[in-house]
Amino acid sequence: MGIDISLFLEKLREEIKSYKVPVVELVSVQTRDPFKVLVATILSARTKDETTAKASERLFKVAPDSETLATLSQEQIKKLIYPVGFYKAKAGYLSNLPKALEAFAKKVPSDLDDLLTLPGVGRKTASLVLNVAFQKDAICVDTHVHRIMNIWGYVSTTTPLKTEMALRKKLPLHHWQEVNTILVTFGQGTCHPVSPHCDRCVLLDLCPKKGVTPRKIH
Ligand code: SF4
Repeated sequence: MGIDISLFLEKLREEIKSYKVPVVELVSVQTRDPFKVLVATILSARTKDETTAKASERLFKVAPDSETLATLSQEQIKKLIYPVGFYKAKAGYLSNLPKALEAFAKKVPSDLDDLLTLPGVGRKTASLVLNVAFQKDAICVDTHVHRIMNIWGYVSTTTPLKTEMALRKKLPLHHWQEVNTILVTFGQGTCHPVSPHCDRCVLLDLCPKKGVTPRKIH
């Protein structure tokens, strides 16, 4: 028998109240500005939250919107966002962003396919922007969601894209918006990719722990 996903997410919703909020959520709580949410999401890929938060702050002081971002050179952007992961490539994406947004009246679009036309925006980023900036139903599957859903045996998939497709069929709609925030926060705080803290986990008695070797259970 499979797990009760609503029970799992309900327990974690309570559990993560005392955890640190992921940076993109934080930006959205602070601003509700789709431009800032999009830029922070692009910066956050393969980067620690603290680094993303500081880089976003430096950049937004100089370029809080698309118009001001367009006045910066790629070199200036690079200096402002350093040391986020892949800062050179990201400076290139951000430098091209204002031009790409012109197709959408200089506003961040609220449609998945439109978002996917923007530089540096893949499915994960687009889904997160839809969730966080526009409160739209999309499932943002990153490595934490993919990994933990497989550990729970709720899906049995080999890639984040396959996980997203499986969740679209199976996960009740009312969980779509919250699942990324819950599992990213929980994945960073307890169910780590290496050596998850099963010893202090609220799901210890319920979790099937698929693929988690006994060595990793402390
Ligand atoms: S029991 Fe362990 S593997 Fe299962 S969710 Fe908790 S930390 Fe992750």
